Amino acid sequence: SASLTEADPEIAAAIKGELGRQRHEVELIASENIVSRAVLEAQGSVMTNKYAEGYPGARYYGGCEFVDVAENLAIERAKKLFGANFANVQPNSGSQMNQAVFLALLQPGDTFMGLDLAAGGHLTHGATVNMSGKWFKPVHYTVRREDGIIDMDAVAKLAEEAKPKLIIAGGSAYSRAWDFKRFREIADSVGAYFMVDMAHFAGLVAGGAHASPVPHAHVCTTTTHKSLRGPRGGLILTNDEALAKKFNSAIFPGLQGGPLMHVIAAKAVAFKEALQPDFKVYAKNVIENAKALAETLRAAGFDLVSGGTDNHLMLVDLRPKGLKGNVSEKALVRAAITCNKNGIPFDPEKPFVTSGLRLGTPAATTRGFGVAEFKQVGNLIAEVLNAIAQSPDGTAPLVEASVKERVKDLTDRFPIYQ
Ligand code: PLP
Repeated sequence: SASLTEADPEIAAAIKGELGRQRHEVELIASENIVSRAVLEAQGSVMTNKYAEGYPGARYYGGCEFVDVAENLAIERAKKLFGANFANVQPNSGSQMNQAVFLALLQPGDTFMGLDLAAGGHLTHGATVNMSGKWFKPVHYTVRREDGIIDMDAVAKLAEEAKPKLIIAGGSAYSRAWDFKRFREIADSVGAYFMVDMAHFAGLVAGGAHASPVPHAHVCTTTTHKSLRGPRGGLILTNDEALAKKFNSAIFPGLQGGPLMHVIAAKAVAFKEALQPDFKVYAKNVIENAKALAETLRAAGFDLVSGGTDNHLMLVDLRPKGLKGNVSEKALVRAAITCNKNGIPFDPEKPFVTSGLRLGTPAATTRGFGVAEFKQVGNLIAEVLNAIAQSPDGTAPLVEASVKERVKDLTDRFPIYQ
Protein backbone atom coordinates (compact mmCIF):
# COMPACT_ATOMS: atom_id res chain seq x y z
CA SER A 1 0.00 0.00 0.00
CA ALA A 2 0.95 3.63 -0.43
CA SER A 3 3.43 5.40 1.83
CA LEU A 4 2.20 8.26 3.98
CA THR A 5 3.79 10.80 1.65
CA GLU A 6 1.89 9.30 -1.29
CA ALA A 7 -1.38 8.68 0.53
CA ASP A 8 -1.62 11.91 2.46
CA PRO A 9 0.94 14.54 1.54
CA GLU A 10 -0.67 17.15 3.79
CA ILE A 11 -0.24 15.08 6.96
CA ALA A 12 3.18 13.90 5.81
CA ALA A 13 4.21 17.54 5.44
CA ALA A 14 2.85 18.43 8.88
CA ILE A 15 4.82 15.58 10.45
CA LYS A 16 7.95 16.63 8.58
CA GLY A 17 7.42 20.18 9.80
CA GLU A 18 7.03 18.95 13.37
CA LEU A 19 10.23 16.93 13.12
CA GLY A 20 12.06 20.02 11.89
CA ARG A 21 10.62 22.07 14.73
CA GLN A 22 11.74 19.52 17.32
CA ARG A 23 15.21 19.29 15.78
CA HIS A 24 15.87 23.01 15.82
CA GLU A 25 14.27 24.24 19.01
CA VAL A 26 15.23 23.98 22.65
CA GLU A 27 12.30 22.20 24.25
CA LEU A 28 11.76 23.47 27.78
CA ILE A 29 8.14 22.42 28.28
CA ALA A 30 8.46 20.54 31.57
CA SER A 31 5.92 17.86 30.61
CA GLU A 32 7.51 16.93 27.28
CA ASN A 33 10.34 14.67 26.25
CA ILE A 34 11.92 13.06 23.19
CA VAL A 35 11.22 9.35 22.90
CA SER A 36 13.61 6.83 21.39
CA ARG A 37 13.26 5.38 17.92
CA ALA A 38 12.37 2.05 19.55
CA VAL A 39 9.43 3.64 21.38
CA LEU A 40 8.27 5.32 18.16
CA GLU A 41 8.53 2.06 16.27
CA ALA A 42 6.51 0.11 18.82
CA GLN A 43 3.84 2.81 18.91
CA GLY A 44 3.66 2.95 15.13
CA SER A 45 3.20 -0.83 14.90
CA VAL A 46 0.48 -3.25 13.83
CA MET A 47 -0.61 -3.62 17.45
CA THR A 48 -2.79 -0.61 16.72
CA ASN A 49 -5.10 -3.00 14.83
CA LYS A 50 -5.93 -5.18 17.82
CA TYR A 51 -8.92 -5.14 20.13
CA ALA A 52 -8.06 -6.59 23.54
CA GLU A 53 -10.75 -5.62 26.04
CA GLY A 54 -9.94 -7.21 29.38
CA TYR A 55 -6.55 -8.06 30.82
CA PRO A 56 -3.80 -10.52 29.75
CA GLY A 57 -5.12 -14.07 29.87
CA ALA A 58 -8.71 -12.86 30.35
CA ARG A 59 -9.73 -11.02 27.18
CA TYR A 60 -13.07 -10.56 25.48
CA TYR A 61 -11.49 -11.05 22.02
CA GLY A 62 -9.61 -13.85 20.33
CA GLY A 63 -6.13 -13.51 18.88
CA CYS A 64 -4.61 -11.75 21.87
CA GLU A 65 -1.56 -13.99 22.29
CA PHE A 66 0.94 -11.37 21.13
CA VAL A 67 -0.61 -8.32 22.69
CA ASP A 68 -0.71 -10.31 25.93
CA VAL A 69 3.07 -10.69 25.68
CA ALA A 70 3.40 -6.93 25.29
CA GLU A 71 1.06 -6.06 28.15
CA ASN A 72 2.61 -8.62 30.51
CA LEU A 73 6.06 -7.23 29.78
CA ALA A 74 4.82 -3.69 30.37
CA ILE A 75 3.27 -4.72 33.70
CA GLU A 76 6.31 -6.65 34.93
CA ARG A 77 8.72 -3.89 33.93
CA ALA A 78 6.61 -1.16 35.52
CA LYS A 79 6.45 -3.13 38.77
CA LYS A 80 10.21 -3.66 38.77
CA LEU A 81 10.96 -0.05 37.82
CA PHE A 82 8.94 1.43 40.67
CA GLY A 83 9.10 -1.41 43.20
CA ALA A 84 5.33 -1.84 43.22
CA ASN A 85 3.33 -5.06 43.58
CA PHE A 86 0.63 -4.20 41.03
CA ALA A 87 0.54 -2.13 37.85
CA ASN A 88 -2.20 -1.20 35.41
CA VAL A 89 -0.66 -0.06 32.14
CA GLN A 90 -3.92 0.56 30.26
CA PRO A 91 -4.89 4.18 31.06
CA ASN A 92 -5.08 6.03 27.76
CA SER A 93 -3.95 9.25 29.42
CA GLY A 94 -3.02 10.88 32.68
CA SER A 95 -6.51 12.26 33.06
CA GLN A 96 -8.04 8.79 32.72
CA MET A 97 -5.66 7.22 35.24
CA ASN A 98 -6.78 9.80 37.81
CA GLN A 99 -10.44 9.38 36.89
CA ALA A 100 -10.00 5.66 37.54
CA VAL A 101 -8.74 6.31 41.06
CA PHE A 102 -11.74 8.56 41.71
CA LEU A 103 -14.13 5.98 40.30
CA ALA A 104 -12.55 3.24 42.43
CA LEU A 105 -12.23 5.08 45.74
CA LEU A 106 -14.88 7.84 45.85
CA GLN A 107 -18.59 8.36 45.41
CA PRO A 108 -19.93 11.46 43.65
CA GLY A 109 -20.03 14.31 46.17
CA ASP A 110 -17.19 12.93 48.31
CA THR A 111 -14.60 15.34 49.64
CA PHE A 112 -10.96 15.04 48.60
CA MET A 113 -7.86 17.21 48.90
CA GLY A 114 -5.31 18.25 46.31
CA LEU A 115 -2.88 21.05 45.54
CA ASP A 116 -4.62 24.13 44.16
CA LEU A 117 -4.28 24.49 40.39
CA ALA A 118 -3.14 28.07 40.95
CA ALA A 119 -0.27 26.81 43.11
CA GLY A 120 0.89 24.07 40.73
CA GLY A 121 -1.77 21.37 41.04
CA HIS A 122 -3.31 19.63 38.03
CA LEU A 123 -6.77 20.11 36.49
CA THR A 124 -7.74 16.57 37.48
CA HIS A 125 -7.05 17.36 41.15
CA GLY A 126 -10.31 19.26 41.54
CA ALA A 127 -10.32 22.26 39.20
CA THR A 128 -13.84 23.67 38.92
CA VAL A 129 -13.88 23.15 35.15
CA ASN A 130 -12.81 19.50 35.45
CA MET A 131 -14.99 16.49 36.24
CA SER A 132 -13.01 16.04 39.47
CA GLY A 133 -14.23 19.45 40.57
CA LYS A 134 -17.77 19.14 39.21
CA TRP A 135 -18.73 15.70 40.50
CA PHE A 136 -16.66 15.63 43.70
CA LYS A 137 -15.96 18.12 46.44
CA PRO A 138 -12.39 19.36 46.27
CA VAL A 139 -10.70 21.14 49.14
CA HIS A 140 -7.40 22.65 48.11
CA TYR A 141 -4.21 23.15 50.03
CA THR A 142 -1.78 25.69 48.66
CA VAL A 143 1.74 27.04 49.11
CA ARG A 144 2.91 29.69 51.56
CA ARG A 145 2.88 33.22 50.19
CA GLU A 146 6.28 33.94 51.71
CA ASP A 147 8.31 31.12 50.18
CA GLY A 148 6.12 29.27 47.67
CA ILE A 149 6.47 26.00 49.60
CA ILE A 150 3.67 23.69 50.81
CA ASP A 151 3.03 24.19 54.53
CA MET A 152 2.50 20.69 55.90
CA ASP A 153 0.99 21.95 59.15
CA ALA A 154 -1.63 23.76 57.09
CA VAL A 155 -2.27 20.55 55.12
CA ALA A 156 -2.78 18.68 58.42
CA LYS A 157 -5.17 21.35 59.72
CA LEU A 158 -7.19 21.38 56.50
CA ALA A 159 -7.45 17.58 56.52
CA GLU A 160 -8.64 17.66 60.11
CA GLU A 161 -11.36 20.17 59.19
CA ALA A 162 -12.42 18.76 55.82
CA LYS A 163 -12.16 15.02 56.63
CA PRO A 164 -11.42 14.09 53.00
CA LYS A 165 -11.73 10.53 51.74
CA LEU A 166 -8.68 10.97 49.53
CA ILE A 167 -5.61 13.20 49.70
CA ILE A 168 -3.58 13.81 46.55
CA ALA A 169 0.05 14.90 46.44
CA GLY A 170 1.83 15.75 43.19
CA GLY A 171 1.22 18.42 40.60
CA SER A 172 2.26 20.03 37.35
CA ALA A 173 4.21 23.08 38.40
CA TYR A 174 5.67 22.46 41.85
CA SER A 175 9.46 22.56 41.89
CA ARG A 176 10.13 21.33 45.41
CA ALA A 177 10.35 17.99 47.20
CA TRP A 178 7.17 16.41 48.60
CA ASP A 179 7.00 15.12 52.15
CA PHE A 180 5.30 11.81 51.29
CA LYS A 181 5.76 10.40 54.78
CA ARG A 182 3.99 13.32 56.43
CA PHE A 183 1.21 13.26 53.82
CA ARG A 184 0.58 9.60 54.62
CA GLU A 185 0.53 10.29 58.35
CA ILE A 186 -2.02 13.04 57.76
CA ALA A 187 -4.11 10.77 55.53
CA ASP A 188 -4.00 8.01 58.14
CA SER A 189 -4.98 10.42 60.90
CA VAL A 190 -8.27 11.22 59.11
CA GLY A 191 -8.85 7.81 57.52
CA ALA A 192 -8.21 9.02 53.97
CA TYR A 193 -6.57 7.24 51.08
CA PHE A 194 -3.28 8.79 50.01
CA MET A 195 -2.59 9.10 46.30
CA VAL A 196 0.51 10.52 44.64
CA ASP A 197 0.20 11.72 41.06
CA MET A 198 3.88 11.59 40.15
CA ALA A 199 3.27 12.32 36.47
CA HIS A 200 5.87 15.05 36.38
CA PHE A 201 8.72 13.51 38.31
CA ALA A 202 8.19 9.76 37.67
CA GLY A 203 11.29 9.58 35.48
CA LEU A 204 13.35 10.97 38.33
CA VAL A 205 11.87 8.36 40.67
CA ALA A 206 12.54 5.61 38.12
CA GLY A 207 16.14 6.79 37.82
CA GLY A 208 16.64 6.91 41.58
CA ALA A 209 17.23 10.66 41.64
CA HIS A 210 14.02 11.55 43.52
CA ALA A 211 12.37 10.07 46.60
CA SER A 212 9.83 7.39 45.70
CA PRO A 213 6.24 7.84 46.81
CA VAL A 214 5.45 4.15 46.19
CA PRO A 215 6.21 2.92 49.75
CA HIS A 216 4.06 5.71 51.24
CA ALA A 217 0.97 5.95 49.03
CA HIS A 218 -2.07 3.69 48.71
CA VAL A 219 -1.85 4.43 45.01
CA CYS A 220 0.54 6.21 42.66
CA THR A 221 -0.45 7.39 39.23
CA THR A 222 1.83 8.66 36.51
CA THR A 223 1.81 9.63 32.91
CA THR A 224 4.38 7.77 30.88
CA HIS A 225 5.35 10.58 28.53
CA LYS A 226 6.94 13.25 30.70
CA SER A 227 10.24 12.73 32.54
CA LEU A 228 9.67 8.96 32.15
CA ARG A 229 10.23 9.41 28.40
CA GLY A 230 7.71 6.95 27.04
CA PRO A 231 4.66 7.20 24.77
CA ARG A 232 1.68 9.32 25.81
CA GLY A 233 -0.40 7.48 28.38
CA GLY A 234 -0.99 6.64 32.03
CA LEU A 235 0.04 4.06 34.61
CA ILE A 236 -1.45 3.12 37.99
CA LEU A 237 0.67 1.48 40.72
CA THR A 238 -0.26 0.07 44.10
CA ASN A 239 1.04 -2.43 46.63
CA ASP A 240 -2.46 -3.38 47.77
CA GLU A 241 -4.10 -6.31 46.00
CA ALA A 242 -7.68 -5.33 46.87
CA LEU A 243 -7.10 -1.80 45.57
CA ALA A 244 -5.39 -3.14 42.46
CA LYS A 245 -8.56 -5.08 41.60
CA LYS A 246 -10.64 -1.93 42.04
CA PHE A 247 -8.35 0.10 39.77
CA ASN A 248 -8.43 -2.62 37.11
CA SER A 249 -12.24 -2.63 37.13
CA ALA A 250 -12.32 1.17 37.10
CA ILE A 251 -10.15 1.34 33.96
CA PHE A 252 -11.95 -1.53 32.24
CA PRO A 253 -14.93 -1.73 32.07
CA GLY A 254 -15.42 1.38 34.22
CA LEU A 255 -13.94 4.03 31.95
CA GLN A 256 -12.29 2.56 28.91
CA GLY A 257 -12.99 -0.02 26.24
CA GLY A 258 -10.24 -1.56 24.16
CA PRO A 259 -6.77 -0.66 25.44
CA LEU A 260 -4.31 1.01 23.04
CA MET A 261 -2.11 -2.05 22.56
CA HIS A 262 0.43 -0.26 20.36
CA VAL A 263 0.88 2.33 23.12
CA ILE A 264 1.15 -0.38 25.76
CA ALA A 265 3.87 -2.04 23.68
CA ALA A 266 5.66 1.31 23.51
CA LYS A 267 5.25 1.73 27.29
CA ALA A 268 6.97 -1.65 27.75
CA VAL A 269 9.87 -0.46 25.59
CA ALA A 270 10.18 2.78 27.55
CA PHE A 271 10.12 0.93 30.88
CA LYS A 272 12.90 -1.34 29.64
CA GLU A 273 14.92 1.74 28.72
CA ALA A 274 14.29 3.27 32.15
CA LEU A 275 15.56 0.08 33.80
CA GLN A 276 18.99 0.50 32.14
CA PRO A 277 21.88 2.00 34.12
CA ASP A 278 22.14 5.02 31.82
CA PHE A 279 18.64 6.14 32.81
CA LYS A 280 20.02 6.72 36.32
CA VAL A 281 22.58 9.07 34.81
CA TYR A 282 19.82 10.75 32.79
CA ALA A 283 17.65 11.37 35.87
CA LYS A 284 20.59 12.79 37.81
CA ASN A 285 21.48 15.04 34.89
CA VAL A 286 17.91 16.33 34.53
CA ILE A 287 18.08 17.65 38.09
CA GLU A 288 21.64 19.01 37.80
CA ASN A 289 20.65 20.78 34.61
CA ALA A 290 17.55 22.27 36.24
CA LYS A 291 19.68 23.63 39.05
CA ALA A 292 22.13 25.13 36.53
CA LEU A 293 19.32 26.77 34.56
CA ALA A 294 17.75 28.08 37.77
CA GLU A 295 21.03 29.55 38.99
CA THR A 296 21.70 31.22 35.63
CA LEU A 297 18.28 32.85 35.61
CA ARG A 298 18.63 34.04 39.17
CA ALA A 299 22.03 35.49 38.39
CA ALA A 300 20.37 37.32 35.47
CA GLY A 301 17.89 38.96 37.85
CA PHE A 302 14.85 36.67 37.56
CA ASP A 303 12.88 35.50 40.56
CA LEU A 304 11.96 31.85 40.88
CA VAL A 305 8.94 30.69 42.84
CA SER A 306 10.31 29.02 46.02
CA GLY A 307 13.74 30.36 45.08
CA GLY A 308 14.83 27.34 43.04
CA THR A 309 14.18 23.69 42.27
CA ASP A 310 14.60 20.18 43.66
CA ASN A 311 13.38 18.47 40.51
CA HIS A 312 13.19 18.92 36.74
CA LEU A 313 11.24 22.19 36.61
CA MET A 314 11.11 25.76 37.82
CA LEU A 315 8.58 28.57 37.78
CA VAL A 316 9.97 31.93 36.76
CA ASP A 317 8.26 34.91 38.38
CA LEU A 318 8.47 37.62 35.71
CA ARG A 319 7.12 40.49 37.79
CA PRO A 320 10.51 41.98 38.74
CA LYS A 321 11.13 42.45 34.99
CA GLY A 322 7.69 43.94 34.42
CA LEU A 323 6.83 41.12 32.00
CA LYS A 324 3.82 38.85 31.52
CA GLY A 325 3.85 35.14 30.79
CA ASN A 326 1.97 35.28 27.48
CA VAL A 327 4.22 37.90 25.87
CA SER A 328 7.36 36.21 27.18
CA GLU A 329 6.34 32.76 25.93
CA LYS A 330 5.67 34.14 22.44
CA ALA A 331 9.01 35.94 22.25
CA LEU A 332 10.92 32.85 23.36
CA VAL A 333 9.05 30.66 20.86
CA ARG A 334 10.06 33.12 18.08
CA ALA A 335 13.64 32.59 19.27
CA ALA A 336 13.15 28.77 19.07
CA ILE A 337 13.06 28.31 22.82
CA THR A 338 9.77 26.54 23.54
CA CYS A 339 8.17 26.86 26.96
CA ASN A 340 4.77 27.71 28.44
CA LYS A 341 3.31 30.63 30.30
CA ASN A 342 2.19 29.53 33.73
CA GLY A 343 0.40 31.15 36.62
CA ILE A 344 2.53 31.70 39.70
CA PRO A 345 0.97 31.19 43.14
CA PHE A 346 -1.41 34.09 43.94
CA ASP A 347 -0.96 35.37 40.40
CA PRO A 348 -2.67 38.73 39.87
CA GLU A 349 -2.97 38.00 36.13
CA LYS A 350 -5.57 35.85 34.36
CA PRO A 351 -4.64 32.30 33.19
CA PHE A 352 -4.28 33.45 29.56
CA VAL A 353 -1.85 36.17 30.61
CA THR A 354 -0.01 35.02 33.79
CA SER A 355 3.07 36.39 35.52
CA GLY A 356 5.16 33.28 35.06
CA LEU A 357 6.93 30.83 32.81
CA ARG A 358 7.37 27.14 33.53
CA LEU A 359 10.69 25.71 32.39
CA GLY A 360 11.80 22.08 32.52
CA THR A 361 14.91 20.14 31.56
CA PRO A 362 13.81 16.56 30.65
CA ALA A 363 13.63 16.96 26.85
CA ALA A 364 16.83 18.91 26.24
CA THR A 365 18.69 16.62 28.66
CA THR A 366 17.57 13.68 26.52
CA ARG A 367 19.23 15.21 23.47
CA GLY A 368 22.46 15.57 25.46
CA PHE A 369 22.47 19.08 26.89
CA GLY A 370 24.56 19.33 30.05
CA VAL A 371 25.23 22.08 32.57
CA ALA A 372 27.22 24.20 30.07
CA GLU A 373 24.40 24.12 27.51
CA PHE A 374 21.75 24.90 30.10
CA LYS A 375 23.77 27.88 31.32
CA GLN A 376 23.89 29.06 27.72
CA VAL A 377 20.14 28.52 27.38
CA GLY A 378 19.55 30.50 30.58
CA ASN A 379 21.55 33.38 29.19
CA LEU A 380 19.70 33.24 25.86
CA ILE A 381 16.38 33.36 27.70
CA ALA A 382 17.59 36.37 29.69
CA GLU A 383 18.75 38.07 26.49
CA VAL A 384 15.33 37.71 24.84
CA LEU A 385 13.31 38.64 27.94
CA ASN A 386 15.50 41.64 28.79
CA ALA A 387 15.13 42.85 25.21
CA ILE A 388 11.33 42.58 25.14
CA ALA A 389 11.12 44.19 28.58
CA GLN A 390 12.62 47.30 26.94
CA SER A 391 10.31 47.17 23.95
CA PRO A 392 6.95 48.96 23.86
CA ASP A 393 5.22 46.19 21.85
CA GLY A 394 6.73 43.17 23.61
CA THR A 395 8.81 42.07 20.65
CA ALA A 396 12.50 42.38 19.87
CA PRO A 397 12.87 41.00 16.33
CA LEU A 398 16.63 41.49 16.00
CA VAL A 399 17.47 39.87 19.33
CA GLU A 400 14.93 37.08 18.76
CA ALA A 401 16.44 36.31 15.35
CA SER A 402 19.98 36.38 16.68
CA VAL A 403 19.09 34.03 19.55
CA LYS A 404 17.30 31.72 17.10
CA GLU A 405 20.55 31.47 15.10
CA ARG A 406 22.48 30.52 18.22
CA VAL A 407 19.80 27.99 19.17
CA LYS A 408 20.23 26.46 15.71
CA ASP A 409 24.00 26.09 16.30
CA LEU A 410 23.34 24.56 19.71
CA THR A 411 20.71 22.09 18.52
CA ASP A 412 22.83 21.12 15.50
CA ARG A 413 25.48 20.00 17.98
CA PHE A 414 22.93 17.70 19.66
CA PRO A 415 20.94 16.20 16.79
CA ILE A 416 17.82 14.07 17.27
CA TYR A 417 16.26 11.37 15.04
CA GLN A 418 19.26 11.31 12.67
N1 PLP B 1 -1.39 14.63 36.27
C1 PLP B 1 -0.42 15.55 36.24
C2 PLP B 1 0.32 15.89 37.49
C3 PLP B 1 -0.11 16.17 35.03
O1 PLP B 1 0.83 17.13 34.99
C4 PLP B 1 -0.82 15.80 33.86
C5 PLP B 1 -0.47 16.37 32.54
O2 PLP B 1 -0.78 17.45 32.18
C6 PLP B 1 -1.86 14.87 33.97
C7 PLP B 1 -2.10 14.30 35.19
C8 PLP B 1 -2.78 14.55 32.82
O3 PLP B 1 -2.19 13.87 31.81
P1 PLP B 1 -2.83 13.87 30.33
O4 PLP B 1 -2.46 15.17 29.73
O5 PLP B 1 -2.17 12.67 29.70
O6 PLP B 1 -4.29 13.67 30.48
